[in-house]
Amino acid sequence: MDETLDVAVVGAGPAGSYAALHLARLGFKVCVFEEHTAIGVPTHCAGHLSIASLKSLGLYPLPNGIVENIFSCACFHSPSGFEVQVHLNKPVTCAVNRAAFDVYLAGLAENSGAVFSMNSRVDGFLFEKGSVAGVLVKQNGVIKRVKSRIVIDAEGIAARLLRQAGVSLKRRCLIKTVQADIADASSVGSGAVHVFLGKAYAPGFYAWLIPRKDGTAKLGVGVRYGHPYLYLQNLAHKHPVALKLLYGARVIRTVYHTITLDGPLTRAYGEGFLAVGDAASQVKPTTGGGVVPALICAKLAAEVVVHALEKNDASRKLLQSYGKKIQKIFGFDMRVMRLLRRFLDELSDDQIDRIIRSSCRANLPDLFSDVEEVDFQGRTLLKLLGSSAALVALTRFSAAYCFANS
Ligand SMILES: Cc1cc2nc3c(=O)[nH]c(=O)nc-3n(C[C@H](O)[C@H](O)[C@H](O)COP(=O)(O)OP(=O)(O)OC[C@H]3O[C@@H](n4cnc5c(N)ncnc54)[C@H](O)[C@@H]3O)c2cc1C
Repeated sequence: MDETLDVAVVGAGPAGSYAALHLARLGFKVCVFEEHTAIGVPTHCAGHLSIASLKSLGLYPLPNGIVENIFSCACFHSPSGFEVQVHLNKPVTCAVNRAAFDVYLAGLAENSGAVFSMNSRVDGFLFEKGSVAGVLVKQNGVIKRVKSRIVIDAEGIAARLLRQAGVSLKRRCLIKTVQADIADASSVGSGAVHVFLGKAYAPGFYAWLIPRKDGTAKLGVGVRYGHPYLYLQNLAHKHPVALKLLYGARVIRTVYHTITLDGPLTRAYGEGFLAVGDAASQVKPTTGGGVVPALICAKLAAEVVVHALEKNDASRKLLQSYGKKIQKIFGFDMRVMRLLRRFLDELSDDQIDRIIRSSCRANLPDLFSDVEEVDFQGRTLLKLLGSSAALVALTRFSAAYCFANS
């Protein structure tokens, strides 16, 4: 690859492929460098995504074989086994096979003209006059120098390259996760996503059980401290509801990974450089969901890169509009989600028990039945709280909570 690329993209996850798609579509010369030999593996993700968000990105319905299940019900379990079920009027989320989803996105980008260079690990950058001007790619032990007018870093959570590009990064809130593929999980049923809350089972985050339609499921735990696998075992063997749901189930394989809950980096750009997706902490602080934020930010990054290429100016000053666009779309919601995360972190297990019991008694879940949007949680919450039904439900909830308290 002797010619200069318009854009070198690091990483063929959703962020990298989606950015590449939007650039290649416009005729720019784009190459995506992926360190693995295949796209989408190893898979670490639960693939639980909002249908409305995928639709608004033009990605839903997805081709056959990618969607494993769709959900209109979520069950939230307290540490002592109290449960609140939220039934929505229509399916709002889907669980996708992440490997197949990533392959699909890469295929879209490739069909639009992007080139994918597999088994190609980006080890560093080329610099010209203080600006990133290409990538150093290691392939079968050999380092190649590939020049490009702009580099998009979509390397995921490790973010090894960010600092080299002069972007400062402090990961403050990291969640260690383990996700197990579960077979013989028919006791789980296939109609609802299960969320387990409480410090006894998932300190600083939560555990999830996402059934597929074929009797298998994804069981995961995220923790702020401690070893996630010990908490996963604890959940499966001691949680009063989980142990029933997982009766007879077998763990097929486990994958460990990390989630950042810091919320988007305010300056995910440098001279000749933009970062997208997990690399730039573009993840919802409440749930750790990062696929949709990565896709939205990848599209924004592509818009800014197009402008920079057309102006022949990849300076930090021009690329800063990327930060402004992200702030405009996500600023409010990310602030609300960070507050919600802090609130959840403060709750004792006893308080979670009482909240879930009181929510049931006050029919609080009915309030959520019309919800369609789960990615922009600030806006969703604002809309919910603005209704007169919310006032009634919250009054009932407060009474139930006080009663449960006494
Ligand atoms: C256990 C778990 C469950 C999750 N569940 C959900 C969920 O249900 N819903 C949701 O929305 N989000 C979920 N997430 C978060 C989601 O997985 C990420 O936010 C999403 O994958 C981010 O996409 P990305 O493209 O930024 O990074 P990634 O998907 O991590 O892709 C990065 C790519 O870059 C490649 N790469 C890395 N370094 C280099 C290099 N130097 N050179 C070349 N290639 C490189 C990697 O091999 C990889 O292919 C979950 C995360 C975890 C850990």
